[in-house]
Amino acid sequence: MNKKTVRDIDPAGKRVLVRVDFNVPLHNGMVSDDSRIRASLPTIQYLIDHKARVILCSHLGRPKGKPTPSLSLGPVVARLSELLNRPVRLVSDCVGRAAARIVGTMAPGEVVLLENLRFHPGEEANDPTFAQQLASLADLFVNDAFGSAHRAHASTVGVARCLPAVAGLLMERELDVLGRVLTNPARPFLAILGGAKVSDKIGVVKSLLGRADGLLVGGGMANTFLKAGGKAMGQSLVDEDKLDVARELLLKARDKLLLPQDLVVAEGSDARAARRVVGVDDVPPGWKALDIGPKTVASFRARLRGAGTVVWNGPMGVFEMAPFAEGTLAIARALAELPGATTIVGGGDTIAAVKQAGVEARITHISTGGGACLEFLEGKQLPGVEALLDR
Ligand code: ADP
Ligand code: MG
Repeated sequence: MNKKTVRDIDPAGKRVLVRVDFNVPLHNGMVSDDSRIRASLPTIQYLIDHKARVILCSHLGRPKGKPTPSLSLGPVVARLSELLNRPVRLVSDCVGRAAARIVGTMAPGEVVLLENLRFHPGEEANDPTFAQQLASLADLFVNDAFGSAHRAHASTVGVARCLPAVAGLLMERELDVLGRVLTNPARPFLAILGGAKVSDKIGVVKSLLGRADGLLVGGGMANTFLKAGGKAMGQSLVDEDKLDVARELLLKARDKLLLPQDLVVAEGSDARAARRVVGVDDVPPGWKALDIGPKTVASFRARLRGAGTVVWNGPMGVFEMAPFAEGTLAIARALAELPGATTIVGGGDTIAAVKQAGVEARITHISTGGGACLEFLEGKQLPGVEALLDR
């Protein structure tokens, strides 16, 4: 990686502003999945061990520039404090006199968390005054929020213009692992794409078609390709706006694209709807394709065998409902069983499916960045990364 990291600075005694990604799911006022908090621990612990004054900041949800009690980082600070096994104070406003006063009293090795950055409109607007106010709390800036690096906000880009800015250890790992996929992947390099948001992902399809040795397509994404190839898809989720692009990609890269041969179709969208497995030529009118079928699973598994690198984004079906989860879970298990391959999974729903399959620990890298991961794999420069000091 060509960016400086926390290991390239001497944080001892310094006030270090650390942008983390604590945008975690909350349920009944508790953190329901603390993966993102855990992912930031190595950087925080590194700074504690090196006697920095650690000032953490993050966004949570979309409060639209106004203080919103339900989106307070209170539940996060409680969980973080448990995980670090030390008290962590929540600073009730991320900028202003009270924040400056509290930071002024911090001892080396102490950790505080600033309240939700998006309580201020200046965060998402990347307002230079707001960025300057944030930066004034610290001597150094560490960005460990890979998941927010595709956004040019005050806490990702603005502060990096005011302070010496380096990558945290999580950011470094994401950039290393994903960077290798773009520059020098172990081959055969295969990508698996699915999910619902075809428009968001068509850029990734294009980019990966150029780089990968094969592209396995399932989920709503496959419906769009199948329809573009002339199949009748009934009432299936299809991105009509992307049929032309899909047709063009089919013409250009037919040999690299592996599409479903069979599908689990249902008469309605709920778990009790009548369902059956059909070939891709036989989707009944009015029915919906909600999962890939067993022949497709077998052909995807066969194609994956011997892979050097596999990148997966997007479930193969509506895995939230048990009758349509098998394709997605089978692919998760197939990835976990690839000996010696580098396997990389990104996307909130895809990660949830990997956890549901219970194979999380057998995946090489679970990316913490959904949109950021996709934009990176698309070959785009991420503004939050660009803003960091070059090595
Ligand atoms: P990720 O969060 O991993 O990036 P997406 O958000 O793009 O993935 O897609 C996940 C959603 O796609 C899931 O809610 C899943 O139910 C839905 N999905 C997958 N296949 C289908 C399908 N055939 N029809 C409708 N929805 C689908
Ligand atoms: Mg999603």
